[in-house]
Amino acid sequence: MNNIYDIVIVGAGPIGCKTAELLGKNNLDIIVLEKNNEIGKYSTCTGLVSHRIFDSSRVSKKIVVNRIQKARFYSTKNNFIELKHKTPVYVIDRNKFDKELGEKAKKYSKIKLSTSFEDYMIDENTVRVKTNKEIIKTKMIIGADGPNSLVARRAKINLPDNLLVGVQQTIKSDYISDTVELWLKQSPDFFAWVVPENEEWARIGIAAKNNVSEYFKKFVEIRIGKKIKYKNQISGLIRTGIIENSVADNVILVGDAASQVKPFSGGGLIYGLICSKIAADACIKSIKKKKYDSLFLKENYDKVWKEKLYWPMKKGVWLSKFINNLPEPILDFFIRSSNIIKPFLEDLDMDLLSDNSSY
Ligand SMILES: Cc1cc2nc3c(=O)[nH]c(=O)nc-3n(C[C@H](O)[C@H](O)[C@H](O)COP(=O)(O)OP(=O)(O)OC[C@H]3O[C@@H](n4cnc5c(N)ncnc54)[C@H](O)[C@@H]3O)c2cc1C
Repeated sequence: MNNIYDIVIVGAGPIGCKTAELLGKNNLDIIVLEKNNEIGKYSTCTGLVSHRIFDSSRVSKKIVVNRIQKARFYSTKNNFIELKHKTPVYVIDRNKFDKELGEKAKKYSKIKLSTSFEDYMIDENTVRVKTNKEIIKTKMIIGADGPNSLVARRAKINLPDNLLVGVQQTIKSDYISDTVELWLKQSPDFFAWVVPENEEWARIGIAAKNNVSEYFKKFVEIRIGKKIKYKNQISGLIRTGIIENSVADNVILVGDAASQVKPFSGGGLIYGLICSKIAADACIKSIKKKKYDSLFLKENYDKVWKEKLYWPMKKGVWLSKFINNLPEPILDFFIRSSNIIKPFLEDLDMDLLSDNSSY
């Protein structure tokens, strides 16, 4: 191998690993930098995903923890509407999912754990990537380093400023195992969720811009009670909104780093995986043509993923704004009277995509 990598990928999360696998399969020299000492160890996720997860990631069905048939949307007055999913919805083991993607990436790329990206410099057409350990030379950088992307900051790419903190515990109680619950308006910015693993345990969480722990405590008291038994606790950032530009010279962002996240639900796995394929295709073109400038990357990456996801994301932004701004009594009235539009709501795709494809 020569001493210039084709691409340095920052972040061995699911999207960085999938992108590495797709690029490595095309005989490119790929190195993935991961600041943690293990893949998947610190992932924060509820693991609620649509049927697209298998086509877009190609992971095995071993990651499935539970299958979901229905979703209940609650008002603050505890009234709800129950919708049946027309396509399968899964609760997955995020740790296993990340590890499987990590194993696949390892076959086609070099993964460096405990290695943090710090900065980069472009010198002629070589990019020098500074890590906590060494300088690595490459032609391009893919920032797959999550919602607080340092690659984005170093590349002076502005990220959408809608940043939420999500917290979740897996709590013991009685649940309907095939039904998820979305309790609307439990924080000023987001809903609270109850995602069962089975009849006994559910992943319960909430997101908010500020004071998330208080909203979480209040919601758990309403839904479960004061005394709880839990086995798992996570917290993490969710950044939503449409990024103006996901590229810079020699740099592209993918996954949460580019806010490729469903604005209503905060789910980022499906959109991120769709974009990992588009990112890989764009990088292959760049390397072949030796063109790494932001104009070329914008045309072949930013524009392409937005053709697929701009409107689904825009609809998600509208939906979350509509619900957040709706006064509680009106939302309650809407939920109580929404049986008329139930068939229409049941036809809505969970990922707000207009076709059934995973790419
Ligand atoms: C509470 C919560 C619940 C969620 N629930 C769902 C859900 O039900 N369904 C769903 O689809 N999505 C969900 N999400 C979102 C989902 O977790 C993300 O969309 C997904 O993890 C994005 O993957 P990624 O690879 O882009 O980024 P990440 O998973 O954030 O991976 C980024 C990687 O980059 C590494 N990294 C960061 N900085 C550096 C650096 N400087 N140098 C080297 N490495 C670095 C990190 O250690 C990490 O491994 C949830 C998120 C939260 C917070």
